[in-house]
Amino acid sequence: MNIPFLDLKAPYFDLKDQFDEAYQRVMKSGWYILGDEVEAFESEFAEYCSAKQCIGVANGLDALHLIVRGYGIGSGDEVIVPSNTYIATWLAVTHASATPVAVEPDEQTYNIDPAKIEQAITPRTKAIMVVHLYGQPADMDPINAIARKHGLKVIEDCAQAHGAYYKGRRVGTLGDAAGFSFYPGKNLGAFGDGGAVITNDVQLSNQIKILRNYGSEIKYHNEILGFNSRLDELQAAFLRVKLKKLTEWNKMRATTAELYMKHLAAITEIALPFVPEWAEPVWHLFVIRLHNRDMLQKKLTSVGIGNMIHYPIPPHLQTAYSHLGFQNGDFPISEAIHNSVLSLPMWPGIAEENIAAVCSTICNFMGNT
Ligand SMILES: *Cc1c(COP(=O)(O)O)cnc(C)c1O
Repeated sequence: MNIPFLDLKAPYFDLKDQFDEAYQRVMKSGWYILGDEVEAFESEFAEYCSAKQCIGVANGLDALHLIVRGYGIGSGDEVIVPSNTYIATWLAVTHASATPVAVEPDEQTYNIDPAKIEQAITPRTKAIMVVHLYGQPADMDPINAIARKHGLKVIEDCAQAHGAYYKGRRVGTLGDAAGFSFYPGKNLGAFGDGGAVITNDVQLSNQIKILRNYGSEIKYHNEILGFNSRLDELQAAFLRVKLKKLTEWNKMRATTAELYMKHLAAITEIALPFVPEWAEPVWHLFVIRLHNRDMLQKKLTSVGIGNMIHYPIPPHLQTAYSHLGFQNGDFPISEAIHNSVLSLPMWPGIAEENIAAVCSTICNFMGNT
């Protein structure tokens, strides 16, 4: 078998003429940074998210980092983050000189557990950064209620959740500001790095436009110590082509997820993704959970089925965060999840027979252990 984990070439060939046209348009324009394409993409993506403002930046980490900075959060401040996430969520806080304070996930959804947030709040807490992990929206209503009560900002890490719905509303406008990534493998991915901030907060939006461009509003007049974090014209032009397909692609992912659910339902040793009734996820990843994860992973790899672990090591146990002094056992729920999750092949357009082949391999293996 040769079933890759992800096929990034398929969407390229699918829309090749439109990408080629976008490429020609940008190349011939002679304008490659912060121009018409970025502006057009910003307004199209803001509309897609039903938001007032969109600011294109260089990547998802920068989007989150610039939001934290844009709110003036920094040294001595704390930001609540999930213990169960990709390290970028934490780095966005750390790079603004603030401290990430981790909160454990809900065992069923793998997203931050709203019931555990309040005990992590201190007088230094300035914001809650929520992640819609694997494309599953986090439970925003109780989180927003806690934030209002304590006067905190709510920042959404939407890097895995472009287009997901929570109670009928798209992620990205559920809190105060949201960061998106357009890394090639994301649900909306560029042919290189890219990211965006979404917000209804005009003041924050203006601040981030200045921060992304060397701290200047007027060329060569620098009011603050800024960064170089700009979405480029070529990637914006490609993203405009892909944005038109995002809804269709997310539906295809949902169909794939349904098939996985159906084929794997009988295996009691495997925990399938849990979808609360208020959630419409976008299936960035299809993640199963089981005790003998490592053996199943070896099996899948040995027969040519792509798979990955998201993620093998939680942020608090990464060497990069050793200065925070965490140890094994500090966030046991997150650690247990990291030790037992496995992501199966998922992309829009994966063939039905491939899904069936992955599932029968898993069924046979589980029957034999
Ligand atoms: C991908 C990702 C990011 C960072 O995005 P980049 O564009 O790679 O910088 C942040 N948070 C989460 C949850 C991600 O999956």
